[in-house]
Amino acid sequence: MMQRYDRIYASKVFTFTDDFNRLAFDADDFVTGGTGYDIASRLPDDVDIYRGLDYSLYGCKFSVQFYSRGCIRHCPFCIVHDKEGGIHPVDPMEWNDKAEWIEVLDNNFFANPEWRFAVGDLMRQNLPVKLHGVDVRIMDEEQAYWLNKMRLKGNVHIAWDLPQLDLTEKLESVIKFIKPYKITCYVLVGFNSTVEQDLFRLRTLKRLGILPFVQPYRDYNNRREPSQYEKDIARWANRAWLFKSMDFADYRPRNGFRCSEYLR
Ligand code: SF4
Repeated sequence: MMQRYDRIYASKVFTFTDDFNRLAFDADDFVTGGTGYDIASRLPDDVDIYRGLDYSLYGCKFSVQFYSRGCIRHCPFCIVHDKEGGIHPVDPMEWNDKAEWIEVLDNNFFANPEWRFAVGDLMRQNLPVKLHGVDVRIMDEEQAYWLNKMRLKGNVHIAWDLPQLDLTEKLESVIKFIKPYKITCYVLVGFNSTVEQDLFRLRTLKRLGILPFVQPYRDYNNRREPSQYEKDIARWANRAWLFKSMDFADYRPRNGFRCSEYLR
């Protein structure tokens, strides 16, 4: 017999994710929320404050952690500030006692005024840490030092999304502390940037030995389809062997087409 529930809360991250099948549940009430449904939706306070996670539900081999919500910035292509407000520390989640590593999902880890507590707390777990939101624009030597001291799982993820910013000097100082091959840099294309601006960012990263991950812009309602150019530059930049072995201008994604055409 189907388990009966008083109320089911369901969330999704992306607007393009399919809705869950309500017919699969016997419940009086369904409440949907999360970015994929409505960025203004909020959980009731007594639910939101809860810091326990049932890791067994998905057989999680990692702990999920947040030390802050929100962000100090308001980037024009990002909904974090509208959804979560300015940066503010939050109480950490409970740990998964079966965790083999920690996924740290802060939007902007080092913008948190309590980042030193967060670093200490993570180091005390003595597990590899995967950091998702590192803002290189605010990174100082102390933060880079501690980042280098942490046991990291995979690369540190940074971003160079705004084409009008030149992060060259900042990146040069960061790679004095963190080896460039341990860094992956997200590069947004298709959001008010020219081909020249995209290539300036990508060629700078290549010169510094940092691997990029190009992301064509997707709007919140997923109505925008990436252009052929955006798909081509992402395909070239996101394959390390292609990125390292040739310039974008020499890349031939299709018979009879060379990407130098985009530079005319
Ligand atoms: S720094 Fe990152 S999280 Fe913050 S507003 Fe910009 S894109 Fe969003």
